Amino acid sequence: MNGFTPELLDRCISCGFCLPACPTYALTKDETSSPRGRITLMRALEEGTLPGNDLRLQEESSFCLGCRACETVCPAGVQYGALLEEWRDRQWQGTRRPLIVWLLMSAVNSPWRVRLLGLFRRHARTRPSPSGPHLMLGCFERALYPEVSRAARRLHPELAAPAAQGCCGALHAHNGDSARGRQMAAELGERLPGTIVTTSGGCAAHLADVLGRDRVKEISEYSTGEDLPETGARIALQDSCHLRNGLGVWREPRALLERMGEYVELPSAGSCCGAAGSYALVRPRDSARILDAKLDEIEAAGIDYLAVVNPGCHRQLEQGLRRRKSSVRVVHLAELAAGAVRPADR
Ligand code: SF4
Ligand code: SF4
Repeated sequence: MNGFTPELLDRCISCGFCLPACPTYALTKDETSSPRGRITLMRALEEGTLPGNDLRLQEESSFCLGCRACETVCPAGVQYGALLEEWRDRQWQGTRRPLIVWLLMSAVNSPWRVRLLGLFRRHARTRPSPSGPHLMLGCFERALYPEVSRAARRLHPELAAPAAQGCCGALHAHNGDSARGRQMAAELGERLPGTIVTTSGGCAAHLADVLGRDRVKEISEYSTGEDLPETGARIALQDSCHLRNGLGVWREPRALLERMGEYVELPSAGSCCGAAGSYALVRPRDSARILDAKLDEIEAAGIDYLAVVNPGCHRQLEQGLRRRKSSVRVVHLAELAAGAVRPADR
């Protein structure tokens, strides 16, 4: 079993600056549920003072959203996201990995399974291009929101979108199998030569980590020079945690939205909505607690659209607002930019 990378684990100076940024610490006010508390647990695991089956280790490795908000405020440059991957690689082996996560990982583990997910969905489809650029179709996005890839291609007809491209492996990397997650990203990079454009912030961060920043563009980074429709609507944004905290991309989607309507900045736009990959399925109650405060904020903002840049956030916020019978419509930024949202939809 691999240990932690010493340079990653040793970097924390226990200053506690990260505590106010952490959504789970905000819920509990318990040090153990903070980034610093979790790093202390990781050190105890590494040093052998806590056994691998200690309940606090299992609980905290799963309670953490993996949102990486702690990284952005850390003066010591702790790479918490990388530490969490190494922790779950050790912690979530065999039956310790939640069953639902295991099922999701199995569903996307090979290109043909991913292709099956979107078989009867009208996502974008073209032949591959020998040199790119390519549009990444994603695994669950192609099944749940096929209209997003169609909008991306309407906006950028030059993007090739072959159906046989597989999953980027972010789900594996974040859930205890980082080696397979990296292998899947590398394979996707071989299947899609040239620049890879993605409509999923989480996938963008993982792919960039494996393939290099130059090869990967999230759609709002790629779309800077487009003619955009004026919607006349009030629009807010929910950031993608990994896009914002991992890749530092947050100005770009705002700049596009400001050109399409009256942009409204939500106070918590940059903090996690509780979707966090598989988190909403693994820890539905904690996920709902995090989501609820955000939904209050969205409803109070008097907006027409809530733009998203990640399919997990899309699902989480759409379901939450639907339960409340809210009139706010959740749309992917690419749909707004491509003019795919009609005024009658408001
Ligand atoms: S993770 Fe960073 S901010 Fe948090 S306690 Fe450690 S050094 Fe301080
Ligand atoms: S990744 Fe998010 S939830 Fe986890 S410790 Fe960091 S800030 Fe807290």
